[in-house]
Amino acid sequence: MSDLITVQGVVLSSMPVGEYDRRVVLLTRERGKIAAFAKGARRLNSPFMAASNPFVFGTFTLYEGRSSYNLNHVEITHHFTELAAEQPGVYYGYYFLELADYFGREGIDETDTMNLLYLTVKALLNPAIDNRLVRCIYELRLLTIQGLMPQLYACPSCGKEVPGDEDVWFSFAEHGVLDQACMHRVPDAKKISSRTLYTLRYIAAAPLTKLFTFTLREELLRELESVVTEYTRRNTDRRFRSLEILALMI
Ligand SMILES: [Zn+2]
Repeated sequence: MSDLITVQGVVLSSMPVGEYDRRVVLLTRERGKIAAFAKGARRLNSPFMAASNPFVFGTFTLYEGRSSYNLNHVEITHHFTELAAEQPGVYYGYYFLELADYFGREGIDETDTMNLLYLTVKALLNPAIDNRLVRCIYELRLLTIQGLMPQLYACPSCGKEVPGDEDVWFSFAEHGVLDQACMHRVPDAKKISSRTLYTLRYIAAAPLTKLFTFTLREELLRELESVVTEYTRRNTDRRFRSLEILALMI
């Protein structure tokens, strides 16, 4: 006899299995990243038809079998169906799910990543915030949650405190911002403005609910992207399909 468990989670991906079923990957508070079968999810009138889609946030009741989980009941709290109509917004959304899947592990508490994902998908639907900025915020904060935050306060080369009111130099090789004294010693040091340093620090440290409360001028957004996009690429070793689609669209 298998036991029922209840988890709070989000559907990261969903793929058809056999004739009528689906296999979903969930990111959950209680069990980390897990896969579950949604039996009959592709039958008309199945209660799992809507629930087994990406971007569904909810409470999932599962049978814990010997080698897999099976969905028993889903209480949807948010579905974000309106995201499907956003082009290219929906592909940013798929990329965010893919990146969460990349870092997700079974058995660890994924509450922070789930909350970040929820707020990030909401921000994609907010026309006041550029999707490129939403991406930078999500990438850097997710890396921070994963313990991969770049050094933003002390120079990784000499250990001295980096002033927040001057130009500084970012080094991908050194994983952080260098002060003026060390920038000559590091070949890939690239100058960034104090405003961008402030933005990086803000994204890494602000309360989650305050993350998507600002916008940037194009020039500053470009500078932020040039740091965060490359930093993310260097800290991941997978090609993200959604990112390739996105690159064709923007
Ligand atoms: Zn230094």
